[in-house]
Amino acid sequence: MKLLHVASELFPLVKTGGLADVLGALPGAQQDLGDEVRVLLPGYPAVLAAGRDWAPVFTDGDLFHGGPAQILFGRADGVPVPLYVLDCGARFYRPGDPYRGGDGNDWPDNLERFAALAWAAARIGLGADPLWRPEILHAHDWQAALAPAYLEVLGRGAPRPATVTTIHNLAYQGRFPVDRAPVLGLGGLTDSGGPAEYYGSLNFLKAGISMADRVTTVSRTYAAETASPGQGQGLDGLLADRGPDYRGIVNGIDRDHWNPLADPYLPQVYDAASVGPGKRAAKAAVQARYALDQDPQGPLAIVVSRMTHAKGLDLILAAMPTIVAQGWQVAVLGSGDRSMEDGFRAAAGRFPGRVGCVIGYDEGLSHLLQGGGDVILVPSREEPCGLTQLYGLRYGTLPVVRRTGGLADTVVNADPPAIAAGLANGFSFDDATAEAMAGTLAWVLDMYRNQGLWRGLQATAMAADHGWPAVAALYSNLYAEIAPRL
Ligand code: ADP
Repeated sequence: MKLLHVASELFPLVKTGGLADVLGALPGAQQDLGDEVRVLLPGYPAVLAAGRDWAPVFTDGDLFHGGPAQILFGRADGVPVPLYVLDCGARFYRPGDPYRGGDGNDWPDNLERFAALAWAAARIGLGADPLWRPEILHAHDWQAALAPAYLEVLGRGAPRPATVTTIHNLAYQGRFPVDRAPVLGLGGLTDSGGPAEYYGSLNFLKAGISMADRVTTVSRTYAAETASPGQGQGLDGLLADRGPDYRGIVNGIDRDHWNPLADPYLPQVYDAASVGPGKRAAKAAVQARYALDQDPQGPLAIVVSRMTHAKGLDLILAAMPTIVAQGWQVAVLGSGDRSMEDGFRAAAGRFPGRVGCVIGYDEGLSHLLQGGGDVILVPSREEPCGLTQLYGLRYGTLPVVRRTGGLADTVVNADPPAIAAGLANGFSFDDATAEAMAGTLAWVLDMYRNQGLWRGLQATAMAADHGWPAVAALYSNLYAEIAPRL
């Protein structure tokens, strides 16, 4: 099948979050399955610089009053599939963050910038490249979400690709004042009651949700939650209206980069058969790095996270005295909310040898922690998919999670029936309270002291796949439902 992904980020060229990781991995996995896959990106300087032999396939003299624009085709270093790039200097030749200027504010023309991206996607969908035309146009997040709208307006009944909108985080919707609608050229679609209008504002994501043939998000539970009254950031009614056409597909992980048997950041590599000695070596290294008491038998909980309210890190802070009294050591890596950073520093000071924290972003240390931890704490209030619990599973670091979003989809609580069925791979709780988390950790400690049981849970966790090939196959099934015969 011929697939065109449209997004504003792709690892390793441009990344601010998990969206980039998906675009960095899914297209290659789909190509490996035999699909013809291309990705359309904005022409950021880093994207253009990574490419070679860019060839123009389509030109517009003055795109949304931003001057000349070209759709280029080519390849870029580190990207396994061919790329289209929307080259429009006035809109995209800017340093730094793709969405914000140096002052931290959104670029004032984000409306025109990302409408232009969706416009380019629709142009390619309608045959702008005489040599290649997609059967599926897969738009990611609000930045690409107007693509189905432009297919309708520019296509005027011509054959067109089927469309998918994927929501990576519903908190970001692309909202703008409605008086800016005329520049978009979307006619009635931006009128009151139209798909791109929401209570007197423009809303790009709403258009994508309303108009795409299928809508997906990155876990089944997040799909169900966001379609429930009051839980969809204002769009729950619309998502519920899509019925079975709105569903969740859990993201994959890079099993080569996150592989305890070939991880350069671990003092001793390991697999399920050698998890005991492997983890002992990594735990000793974590204890040394964090100035924790050297204690090979002591239980070690790790945290690798942005420090935000949505991630629930305040619950860990509130539970810290109880957790430490239970006998846990806690090693934290993260950054974000200033007061939380201060809180973790203070906890490390209050419980020397038992709690350690590193404020910052450190890829290597995150691998070492996954290697050395016995459990990873992920008490998120909201979690569209979540990756750290998946890395924890792969490293035999059992996740202790709040049962929400992708955490609910991927962590099977070790209750007796799940253990008996050989499905248990971690621990979960429902209430977003310090008491619920601390109570769960007391129970987890009992399980930890039963080494035979613990090894069984680790073996189940480490046997999980979560690779991209399986995820790509799920998207193939979705596309097959909607693919047109062009
Ligand atoms: P989100 O995208 O909401 O932050 P995810 O769990 O989906 O949460 O992904 C977070 C990613 O960022 C993971 O790969 C995690 O290992 C990594 N990460 C988060 N904080 C840090 C940090 N301080 N240092 C290193 N890696 C981090």
